[in-house]
Order: sequence, then C-alpha cells, then structure tokens
Amino acid sequence: MEFINKEILDYSAKNTEHEPDLLKKLNRETWLKVMNPRMLSGHIQGRVLSMLSKMIKPRNIIEIGTYTGYSALCLAEGIQPKGKLHTIDINEECVLIANKYFQNTIFKNNIKQHIGNALEIIPKIKCNFQLAFIDADKENYINYFNMIFNKLDVGGYIIADNVLWSGKVLKKQKDVETQSLDDYNKMIINNKKLKSVLMPIRDGLMVSEKIYE
Ligand code: SAH
Ligand code: CA
Repeated sequence: MEFINKEILDYSAKNTEHEPDLLKKLNRETWLKVMNPRMLSGHIQGRVLSMLSKMIKPRNIIEIGTYTGYSALCLAEGIQPKGKLHTIDINEECVLIANKYFQNTIFKNNIKQHIGNALEIIPKIKCNFQLAFIDADKENYINYFNMIFNKLDVGGYIIADNVLWSGKVLKKQKDVETQSLDDYNKMIINNKKLKSVLMPIRDGLMVSEKIYE
C-alpha cells in the first residue's frame, strides 16, 4: 500500500535530488534478478537516508539487512573518510550483488560486509556506532535494538524501516510481524533514553536519537 497518491509521489520524486546513476542501475538489476525487489529503499527514501547520514556524519554505521546494498550506499554518503559501515545479511546471493556495486564506489574501503545471522554477528563487531539502520527480519527488531543500544554513542541515531508495515499496524488482528513492529514502536516511544519521530516516509521510518546512556 502507498500512503500518498501516485501523482504526489511522482511530484515529490521530481523535486528531490536525482537518484545517482549507480543506484538507478542497482535498482534495475534488483528488479530483474532478485526476489522481493520492493524491499529496496528506492529513490526518495534513499535520498532521505543519505541526507540523515550527512547530517549525523557518523564514524561508524551498522546496518542490519543489506539486501542488494541500496540503503548501504545511501548511508555511506555521510560517513567520515576513515569510517566504517558494517552491513549484515544472511542471504549470500544478495551479498554478492551488493559487493559488486560496493566495489564500484569510492566507499569500497569504508564498507565491511558480514554474511550470516545478525543475532550472531552483532556481538562480534567490536566498535561503537553513531548511526544504526535496522531493516532485517521484523520479529527481531527489539532484539536488534537491545543489542545495538549499548554500542551507540549518546547523540547517535537508530533508524528502523517499515515500521508502518503497509498500514497493518492499525489492524486489531495482527500477524507476528505486524505485532513485532507495533511493539517496537511502543517500546521506542516509551523509552526515556530516546527522542524519536515516526516519519511516515514510504513504509515508515522510526528515527530515534539516543539522549542518555
Ligand atoms: N536495507 C535494504 C533492504 C533490506 S531487505 C534496502 O533498503 O535496500 C531485508 C534483508 O534482511 C534481506 O536481504 C534478508 O536476507 C535480511 N535478513 C533477514 N533476516 C536476517 C537475519 N536474521 N540476519 C541477517 N539478515 C537478515
Ligand atoms: Ca526495508
């Protein structure tokens, strides 16, 4: 479900920074070759992630859910020159496509790909982060948050994608994924250590700043 009508979305896209050529190519290749291409962030959300990252200027970023690398490349645009973006995915086929694109950018030395279950990999990454992007299996969003929170600097941000889940969060009867996302949103907004905004961009971005340790 799109929350905003197509004409308004098209108008917004036209009046937003162009989608960089490499990302256009990645977008096309994902639609041709990979399952569930709708998962890719896309033009407007990608530019939002890029802009947020440029505002935060993170030294280290963690991304859970690389898929074909679109959001990673957007987030990398704001990283400090010697910074690292750690991106994790369990699907090897996606990791290969992402890697091909990462190698073609100035960020190739800034991006470290991890293959496997994020629940096992996150504890092995030994550094602090200023930005985290949670975008993998929805049932584990709260687990990912809990694993990342202590590694996030005060003043750092956690962004979680798809928190409106096509509007299903409003339904009384919720399936497991919808319930998990609704639980995530409630947990976040009741957490006194955060300041958060649920931005109704695309499928919903929950943006949270860590204000206390
Ligand atoms: N961030 C991407 C889209 C991610 S789609 C973008 O915006 O372009 C979600 C991804 O999460 C899928 O590629 C899937 O393989 C991955 N995923 C699902 N469960 C996972 C897990 N337990 N550990 C790591 N990755 C997982
Ligand atoms: Ca997503």
